[in-house]
Amino acid sequence: MTFPDIMLPLKDKDKPIVQKLLSAGCCARCVLRFCCTRVQAAYRQPEQDTLKELQAFICSTEDSAASESTQEKDKSHDAAVSEAPEDPPSKRAKLDPSGTDAQSEEGAASVDKPRDKETHVCVVCLGILQELCGSTQAVKIAEAVKAESYEFDTLVLSVSLPAQLCVREHSCWLHVKKEVREKGLVLDKDDVIQVKEAFKWTMQGLVAKELGGVAVVTKSAFEVGVEFTHEATDSDCHFLASACPDCFKPTKNKESVFTRMAVVKALEKIPDARFLKHYPCPPTQPSSCCSLQDIQCLHVSVFVAGRYNKFCRSLPQTPWVIDGERRMESSVEELIAAPVLSAFRADGFNFSSSGREDVDVRTLGNGRPFAMELLNPHKSRQSRVEMKQLQETINTSSDKIRVRDLQIVSREAMSRMKEGEEEKTKSYTALIWTQKPIQREDIAFIDDIKELTLDQKTPLRVLHRRALAVRQRVIHSMNARFLDPHHFYLGLKTQAGTYIKEFVHGDFGRTKPNLCQLLKTDTDILELDVESVDVDWPPAIPE
Ligand code: ZN
Repeated sequence: MTFPDIMLPLKDKDKPIVQKLLSAGCCARCVLRFCCTRVQAAYRQPEQDTLKELQAFICSTEDSAASESTQEKDKSHDAAVSEAPEDPPSKRAKLDPSGTDAQSEEGAASVDKPRDKETHVCVVCLGILQELCGSTQAVKIAEAVKAESYEFDTLVLSVSLPAQLCVREHSCWLHVKKEVREKGLVLDKDDVIQVKEAFKWTMQGLVAKELGGVAVVTKSAFEVGVEFTHEATDSDCHFLASACPDCFKPTKNKESVFTRMAVVKALEKIPDARFLKHYPCPPTQPSSCCSLQDIQCLHVSVFVAGRYNKFCRSLPQTPWVIDGERRMESSVEELIAAPVLSAFRADGFNFSSSGREDVDVRTLGNGRPFAMELLNPHKSRQSRVEMKQLQETINTSSDKIRVRDLQIVSREAMSRMKEGEEEKTKSYTALIWTQKPIQREDIAFIDDIKELTLDQKTPLRVLHRRALAVRQRVIHSMNARFLDPHHFYLGLKTQAGTYIKEFVHGDFGRTKPNLCQLLKTDTDILELDVESVDVDWPPAIPE
């Protein structure tokens, strides 16, 4: 029998606690946790090896008391090795004669029935730090990651544990609380190393190796979540509901009220005596270990921005759905999003833009700034050339829209688009019809109008979705271009948010002043184009 090179960082004063925890049915790694061992290498060695070392360690207490001579130590090691794997239960009975408190509650099973080393599942971690924490699991996790073919440099491992682990941890804590405090090992329950931590310390290196040396770190844009469940012991939490009813309020979205958060909260509130009345201490022996419920990969969002032109008068900006029925077959955001989603292999997107145009309005000039959040992108980086190609793909896929300045931006930069949006200016061209015939000189005065303030009541056409209000907006300047006795082009430079259509036809007097009043005849708007949206974001990309 050979022992690993790592010497367990335990001291003499740990011995009674190690003994008590092993007797209670804790796995070796849980023993290390409760001894507050922060030496990660100690968790990384095989659990069975650590167990043997621990057994040898406590035997040395028994056999040789204070003696620390190497000879004595070796003897005790031998004794432990030959005896430990064969018959742990009898060892428990022998080593923990004072542990009668547990036996009445716990039932005879774990005490009397011989416990096979292979099937002995830890009473606290329910096997998570035993066979669920090793190279077999690392291979499983790595396979799941590879199957989704993400592109990443680093990853962070996250672990979701069944809520009852907290109950078991609490029970075990109460079991050794007195001793650990007396020995000054652990001052508080929070000092005990968390199962999550121990799991990560053990698994990170193994997963990294399986993924070809990728760094498994504590902070990364790419997260691999491992979820464990243990149905057989789900009911462990149930007594808390009657002991601490205000901690367990039903919520719509959760399957069970026994969320980890609620359980932790209840355990903080419940007095020790009450807990001990309802729950065995130490916890009972489970017959099976946790199951690996799910491995989920998630990459943080990537943000893409650009400007778009819309050349079509029958294309909404976002999918147009009324009463669950689609009115138009496509939309600006869908035409842009489809190629972007496939380039970044993202699961979904959120689209936003600097203002929006009506379905029948074109957006010309340099276009309208837009930004997209790409959800769970499997590919998160694109070179300049790749972005250029992606832009080309969008532009050749439809003649209804065109994008420029397509680029990856940060989440923070996105807010620049919405910043001070109201103060920005927008330029329009409108095709105007007049009821009375006009001549060139009849509309010439329009060119001289500057900084015209409008009072605009919420337009009738949007009143169903916006609150009734009067808003002041400024038309900075206008120019008129005569076409024929009933038509002219009106150019406008306005404050963002001005309702142009309403300014032209007056909206039954809801916009004042309006073009009808200025021209002293009925006017209507036949076509409208956005010529420019003066938001200096995103930065232009030279062709
Ligand atoms: Zn354990």
